[in-house]
Amino acid sequence: EVVLSVKDLTAEVDGASILKGVNLEIRLGEIHAIMGPNGSGKSTLSKILAGHPAYEVTGGEVIFQGQNLLEVEPEERARSGIFLAFQYPLEIPGVSNLDFLRVAYNSKRKAQGLEEIDAFDFDDLIEEKLEVVKMDSAFLSRSLNEGFSGGEKKRNEILQMALLEPTLAILDETDSGLDIDALKIVANGVNQLTSAKNATLMITHYQRLLNYIVPDYVHVMAKGQIIKSGGKELALELESRGYDWILEEAEVEV
Ligand code: ADP
Ligand code: MG
Ligand code: MG
Repeated sequence: EVVLSVKDLTAEVDGASILKGVNLEIRLGEIHAIMGPNGSGKSTLSKILAGHPAYEVTGGEVIFQGQNLLEVEPEERARSGIFLAFQYPLEIPGVSNLDFLRVAYNSKRKAQGLEEIDAFDFDDLIEEKLEVVKMDSAFLSRSLNEGFSGGEKKRNEILQMALLEPTLAILDETDSGLDIDALKIVANGVNQLTSAKNATLMITHYQRLLNYIVPDYVHVMAKGQIIKSGGKELALELESRGYDWILEEAEVEV
């Protein structure tokens, strides 16, 4: 079952064309990785999927679970089952992590036509989810992301994911350095949460991450397009050969 279908997607920022016809199809149960050189448009794609207002879609379509995603409000996208890890890196002093998680969880329940969860039931639920990320419950009483280390922020993202159980999780590992512990946290979380009922899109330029999360498909993005797709072995080939050969190959075919 296809969960996300991106067809001939083109987009610009400040009048500059960034995405030049992206095609991608993700089915339930699959893990996809998008790799590629810096500046190729990977983060732009994830921001567009999140509904970031600075990015203007100029053509093509994005269908999420049969729905035209481009017509869905950004907040609504999260509630409809898309999870974007970078959506929550904000620090909110005075709002406890627990409160934030409960609000996020209830907002999703509301979208599903369910009643708010009782505070005691939520405590039980969150304890269960803390196990997934091996986090201590003391973590919940701290302000959202305030003073969190890089690894703690990552763990917190995985906790949010475990709680919200998205149909499609999009993780953009941006360009900020992830240390090996953070990579393992992300990988363990994704591996535990992946099932036949959901799908994951990892956007990364760290080949290392794919030693821990084994993708079903690897795509290479360059100059605003996916120029090559393959299985997990493509990531290994990229590690040993770099990107240049693919760029040359693609140029020959175009
Ligand atoms: P990647 O994530 O693959 O490194 P990005 O999507 O961040 O690439 O960037 C793709 C291209 O779009 C780059 O040339 C970048 O400079 C440009 N770009 C991205 N965001 C903006 C923006 N807000 N304003 C202007 N240019 C941008
Ligand atoms: Mg970049
Ligand atoms: Mg990026």
